[in-house]
Amino acid sequence: SLSEAMGRPAKAIMSIMFKEFGEMVTINQIIEEDVALAVAMELGVDLTFKRQRGALELVNDIVEQEDAPEDLVTRPPIITVLGHVDHGKTTLVDTLRKSNVKVVEGEAGGITQHIAAYQVEYNDHKLTFVDTPGHAAFSEMRSRGANVTDMVVLVVAADDGVMPQTAESISHVKASGVPMVVALNKIDLPDINEQKVLQELASQNVLPSEWGGETEVVRVSALKEMGLDNLLETLLLTAELHELKANPNRPAVGACLEGFRDEGRGSVAWLIVQKGTLRIGDAVICGKSYGYIRAMYDDMDQQIEEAPPSMPVKVTGLDSVPGAGDHFVVVETIDQARELAEERRHEGRADTLSRHSGGPRTLEDILGSAIEGAIQDLPLILKADTPGSLEAIRSEINKFEHPEVRVKILHEGIGGVNESDVYLASASNAIIIAFHVVAEDRALNLATQEDVEIRRYSIIYEVVDDIRASLEGMLRPEL
Ligand code: GDP
Repeated sequence: SLSEAMGRPAKAIMSIMFKEFGEMVTINQIIEEDVALAVAMELGVDLTFKRQRGALELVNDIVEQEDAPEDLVTRPPIITVLGHVDHGKTTLVDTLRKSNVKVVEGEAGGITQHIAAYQVEYNDHKLTFVDTPGHAAFSEMRSRGANVTDMVVLVVAADDGVMPQTAESISHVKASGVPMVVALNKIDLPDINEQKVLQELASQNVLPSEWGGETEVVRVSALKEMGLDNLLETLLLTAELHELKANPNRPAVGACLEGFRDEGRGSVAWLIVQKGTLRIGDAVICGKSYGYIRAMYDDMDQQIEEAPPSMPVKVTGLDSVPGAGDHFVVVETIDQARELAEERRHEGRADTLSRHSGGPRTLEDILGSAIEGAIQDLPLILKADTPGSLEAIRSEINKFEHPEVRVKILHEGIGGVNESDVYLASASNAIIIAFHVVAEDRALNLATQEDVEIRRYSIIYEVVDDIRASLEGMLRPEL
């Protein structure tokens, strides 16, 4: 039924179930609503569930279809700024916004609160910037299934070069597959060595285009407002290359960037529209919250009536405060929204539509799920005490090449396991290998919450033996 409703072959669904959730399903197996939605999302199909006879009909009444190509129009890119602390992320985000704030007239919304995202206009094109810099937030959203970011600006201070969080950011971006533009910041400072920074980027496998690579590096000074036009231009070009499109003429779907409670206005949420147009009066379900959109404000706190794709808006009207990364969907009736929300609350479901339960998380699970199938990736994050041990583990692990198993090192770093590692692991279904290091308390708690496995080792061959044993266990018997 799901296959019919989505117009996609059952095989495609089964393949996604296996690859993404590590579950072998049969063609008439019943799958959960959340899982069906997550599968649909993987296939780029939007689903709406219709309810009948008081119960949620699972997949038989799905009425959504994919947008027809002719309905798609270009939408502004949604951009997140990442980089090492003090390299100028906040300054860049603020400067870009300030340079674009126009004097606006009209009624102000009066909700003075942090702006979660805003739009900048350049040469008649809009760009949306998400104002929560940092790769942990970036991967946290991803781990919730909210892939709102189309592009990343990696800020690297020219006087400091590639630092640990720069490297972490690069790993997070690579794991996400989102295109990246480097903003080489603080070029106003004297005695900077640009070539050295480019070299450091290259050694992280980020090859600047001026060296024949694929990554644009734009020189800027966020503080002195130098090079920002060039940066915006490069971002627009990158956006054009990736043909970002959406159908504005459909009920809106998108994600919550953050929610908060406002004295007098109740719950307020920053939503970003990904498809369709969000309007006042729409019935919305967002995570476990629901309600009519009562009022909408843009990034200048101006009341607006509707929000097209890629536009961030602050809304009121939801019955509770949704969380960052919660998906929102406009549904036909408020009853539908209420029932869905109540069901989610009742079942204590995770806040997002796409968060799945029972996905492979432990080494054994990931490897075990491969017995039946094609090439299996084993994504790993390596943390170690010294560059030497990191090098040793990496070279040992890389020896285990096999046509059916691909060990993929998503990120490696020196030092304890931190929250950023856990978010990356969660977003990418990876295992964390901690060699001679421990996890920070917060990372440990987060790992429990996110179902991420951290395996600690103190002897190199144990790491290697473990992986070898598991790899051998997962290989199909030779015929
Ligand atoms: P974040 O931690 O990455 O958000 O960095 P901030 O934006 O807070 O900037 C850290 C420091 O670098 C602040 O003192 C900024 O004023 C300074 N800074 C940011 N951009 C520039 C720049 O282009 N040139 C110079 N000289 N300083 C900058």
